[in-house]
Amino acid sequence: MSDIKHLARETVQALTPYLSARRIGGNGDVWLNANEAPDCSEYQLDCSNLNRYPEFQPPALIAAYANYASINGAVFTPEQLLTTRGADESIEVLIRTFCEPASATTAGDSILICPPTYGMYAISAETCGVQVDKVELDAQFNVDYSAVEQAVNAADSQVKIVFLCAPNNPTGNMLDKSKLVKLLQATKGKALIVADEAYIEFCPQLSQADLINAHENLVITRTLSKAFALASIRCGFTVAQASVIEMMSKVIAPYPVPDPVAQIATQALSEQGLEIMRERVAILNNNRMVLANALQQLDCVEEIFPATGNFVLARFKDSKIVWQAFSENGIIMRDFASKERLENCIRITVGNVEEMQRTLKILNSL
Ligand SMILES: *Cc1c(COP(=O)(O)O)cnc(C)c1O
Repeated sequence: MSDIKHLARETVQALTPYLSARRIGGNGDVWLNANEAPDCSEYQLDCSNLNRYPEFQPPALIAAYANYASINGAVFTPEQLLTTRGADESIEVLIRTFCEPASATTAGDSILICPPTYGMYAISAETCGVQVDKVELDAQFNVDYSAVEQAVNAADSQVKIVFLCAPNNPTGNMLDKSKLVKLLQATKGKALIVADEAYIEFCPQLSQADLINAHENLVITRTLSKAFALASIRCGFTVAQASVIEMMSKVIAPYPVPDPVAQIATQALSEQGLEIMRERVAILNNNRMVLANALQQLDCVEEIFPATGNFVLARFKDSKIVWQAFSENGIIMRDFASKERLENCIRITVGNVEEMQRTLKILNSL
């Protein structure tokens, strides 16, 4: 072992880093592997204050997000919001705020995840020395609420945070509001339930945000990376009761969001910005319907998962053949075939009309 590797924390020495779509890369000109938006809007940038540190939580940005997030009769105050370096930072700050790492004498706290799901919950926990407990999604890939409740309330449970993802990346499953409420009540004072709503703009009527003001242990994470077409600026949000945000604010870095990011994000959340986002969502939801319907007709497709975000997960009869055909034609997708329970599955990001036509042309030729 090299001298430096030997100096690193043991958990870090053993860690396999998250393989983001960007890190995996690929060859081609159609990028359908990272659930990014296919288009980019224009923004103004005022560079006259770049010599100054930004605000801890830029007030105009927080006010704009509070206005946007307040739906279904739920109104949020600035004290109920935290903006972060992408939703990924929110996940990490939640773990660092609420979970005691393992020590030489104690096992420490754990998070609970419901695989197959987004990979960053486990990676963030591992980098923090926090254990990862698992309750598999049920046969239909929905959350097994009673198994989660049992796991959290077991006598020897150390679970402090449950991460639920809806639309679930990559299976597209949603949460059941009445079962979620029951879980929130049953785990009150014991664990936080985090609903990761990175893709909720594609089905806003299914948000759980209206439950926040009645449940102190509910936390919702959001991002501008997907429907808002701003993956590059790294801007996310946490919505919860003020008591949760107050704790997280103790742990997060002093200047989490750079001023140019705040400027662009605030414009994206203006009335005009929201209108552009909603138009994009309408187009992408339509493209998704066309893609899902076409996939359903194909002989090479075994099944498609619920299509709720800007992606469709399909199980093919032989995904290797499909993967090879996409690669040869310069289309880059995300391969899930090696993941447990996702044998022969490929996740396709919903792109623009031309990208979808190119995708379907290749599938039709198989
Ligand atoms: C993309 C994604 C995120 C990360 O969002 P960033 O704001 O880009 O960090 C979080 N959760 C899920 C489920 C995602 O798919």
